[in-house]
Amino acid sequence: MTFDSYEKLLNDASDILSASTVSQERLKIPRPVLMEEGKQTIVRNFVDISDMINRNEREVAKFFMKEFGIGVNVDGRRLIINRKISDEEFNNKLEQYLNVYVRCYECNSPDTEIVKEGRVSVIRCKACGAQHPISPSRELTINRDQVEEGKRYTVTIMEIGKSGEGRTKLYGYTIIVPGVKKGQTVQVEVKKIREGSAIAHVVK
Ligand SMILES: [Zn+2]
Repeated sequence: MTFDSYEKLLNDASDILSASTVSQERLKIPRPVLMEEGKQTIVRNFVDISDMINRNEREVAKFFMKEFGIGVNVDGRRLIINRKISDEEFNNKLEQYLNVYVRCYECNSPDTEIVKEGRVSVIRCKACGAQHPISPSRELTINRDQVEEGKRYTVTIMEIGKSGEGRTKLYGYTIIVPGVKKGQTVQVEVKKIREGSAIAHVVK
């Protein structure tokens, strides 16, 4: 592939991604369905969400209780929050939970589990095998400069795009890697970054 066709791929990718990044990233995670009931907010599919991310609903509920500083209750499949919460407020908190406790710190896959390593809880990724101690300040340390042109990263290809290019996520970027297979873990060098996408070549 010539550099021109990479450019084109990158342009196409930016167009597609600006519209669909969110849904791609949350592929399997249901969008929270919120309902107001008097002074309470009900998250109707709360247990569906915690099931999908393979986390205990009571643990997830505890996070929201702490973050919102207010009583919450798991009731059947629902979460009851004892005040009005906007969709945006809830989604932002959920996003924070996913970043800290669910998504792989390497490849961003939500397919992870929390395991104890001695006294430390770590996130272990089922997609790429990476393992990291849980870092509650992770969200604060994420910055978009972490993917840089000319730098090398180890990534696991999450899917294959329409032009046959491999795709994965890293620090919020979509990494596009030609000539790879789904599930393959490769070291890549980032060649070019544009908006939320980066073209990278396999180095090994
Ligand atoms: Zn991973």
